[in-house]
Formats: sequence, structure tokens, C-alpha cells
Amino acid sequence: MAKIELEGLVKDYGKVRAVHGIDLQIEDGEFVVFVGPSGCGKSTTLRMIAGLEDISGGALKIGGKVVNQLEPKQRNIAMVFQNYAIYPHMTVGQNIAFGLYTSKLPKAEKDRLVREAGETLGLTPYLDRRPAALSGGQRQRVAIGRAMVRSPSAFLFDEPLSNLDAQLRGQMRIEIKRLHQRLGTTIVYVTHDQVEAMTMADKIVVMRDGRILQVGSPLDLYENP
Ligand code: ADP
Ligand code: ADP
Repeated sequence: MAKIELEGLVKDYGKVRAVHGIDLQIEDGEFVVFVGPSGCGKSTTLRMIAGLEDISGGALKIGGKVVNQLEPKQRNIAMVFQNYAIYPHMTVGQNIAFGLYTSKLPKAEKDRLVREAGETLGLTPYLDRRPAALSGGQRQRVAIGRAMVRSPSAFLFDEPLSNLDAQLRGQMRIEIKRLHQRLGTTIVYVTHDQVEAMTMADKIVVMRDGRILQVGSPLDLYENP
């Protein structure tokens, strides 16, 4: 568990500045939602935190240490991908265990982590089955499970619900919120959906044109839009 700090974080794609030196503190255990229109730099910021994108300027700190150059897997932060790759020939349990593919933990310990993730995510009845019959929401949970078994200090979500229908979206909002309450792990979540931001966040970060426009609790932003 660790605090994540963004200090003057910059991202340039060639001559285009996508992120203009943003400052932000993400407290340990906080649920932070980045919201803003398409192209404002949310995803780029998340990818810099994950280590999937080089940082052009400023500093990213995790637990007080600058990690700008650290490989993704050394950051102990798990990205939950939207286009969740689920392997049809593997069981649900094996799909979840894939998050530990390169881990050196003993097999019994890996099995325990997979069972625990299955239980937390309500996937226990499916662990030995193939994923063919899983619903969209259950597939999303498998993707979360794959990240969970790595026991990360933070989960990063990039528009995780945008492929789901409205009803399932509402259900998954509640599930992800519940998961956060249960695990107490930091979540950084990117969306263009105001409702997701207002209903899930401890702290909302409003972005525009590569800059942070506003930071506050849902209530702060509701009262001072
Ligand atoms: P958001 O997630 O808010 O939709 P992005 O972070 O994806 O925004 O994009 C921010 C800006 O950076 C946009 O202008 C986008 O076109 C640009 N951008 C994003 N990724 C790349 C890339 N790989 N190469 C060049 N420009 C990019
Ligand atoms: P490598 O050492 O080959 O780079 P990793 O240990 O980073 O592999 O990841 C092994 C597998 O676990 C990946 O192929 C990927 O499917 C999955 N994985 C990697 N990183 C993450 C992550 N942040 N969240 C969820 N699953 C991941």
C-alpha cells in the first residue's frame, strides 16, 4: 500500500503535449476517478502511472520514491484492461491464474489466491468451467481477478464499463465499489461518464485539454460545479 504522487507530470507525443504538468496526490486506499471529455489526457495519465507510457517530464512517486523509470511489474500496480483477453481454451480459474504466469510462488499458494479471488468476485461456481458461457459482467470480473491475484497496491481501470449495456453498467458500478470497500486497495479509475464519477469516487479529478480543472469529493463538485 502506498501513496501515489504526480508532480508536474508531462506527456508529449512528438510536438503534441497531451498532459501539461499535472500535480495530484492519491492517498493510500482512495478511490480516485479521472473524468473529462475524450482526448483530455485521462488515459495517458493512467498509462504513465501504470508504467505503460514513458514520462516526458515531472515526477511520479509511489510510496515517496520516484518511479519514472521503473518497469510496470516492479510498481506493484495492476491495470485492469477494458478489452479483457479471456482465453476460451482455459478454465475461468486458469484465466485468473494467468495473472501469476511469471510468479515464482508455489502452486498451492497460486491456487489459494485464485480461489480467494473467485470467492471475492462471486466466480467460485465457474472456476473449473470454460468461459464460453460467461456474461459480460462475469468476464469483467475475470479480468479483475487476474489483477487481484497479483495483490497489487493499486488497481487502475480505463473505461472498464464502456462496452457493457446500461443495466450491467449500473450493476458493475456497485460491484467495483463493493470490491473497493472490501479490499481497501487504492483505485484509480478513468471514465467520461459523470454518473460513474459521482457514484464511485472518493475524489474526482476533472481534466480538460491535458490539465486538471478541478479536484474534489463528489459533494464538493456537486455544490460547486
Ligand atoms: P482521454 O483518455 O482523455 O480520451 P488520451 O489520454 O487518450 O485522452 O489522449 C490525450 C491526447 O493525446 C489526445 O490529443 C490524443 O490524441 C493524444 N494521444 C494519445 N495517445 C497518443 C499516441 N499514442 N500518439 C499520439 N498522440 C496520442
Ligand atoms: P512478463 O514477465 O512476461 O512481462 P508479467 O509477469 O508482467 O509477464 O505478466 C504475466 C501475464 O500476466 C501477462 O501476460 C498478462 O496477461 C498478465 N498481466 C500482466 N500484467 C498485468 C496487470 N497489470 N494486470 C493484470 N494482468 C496482468
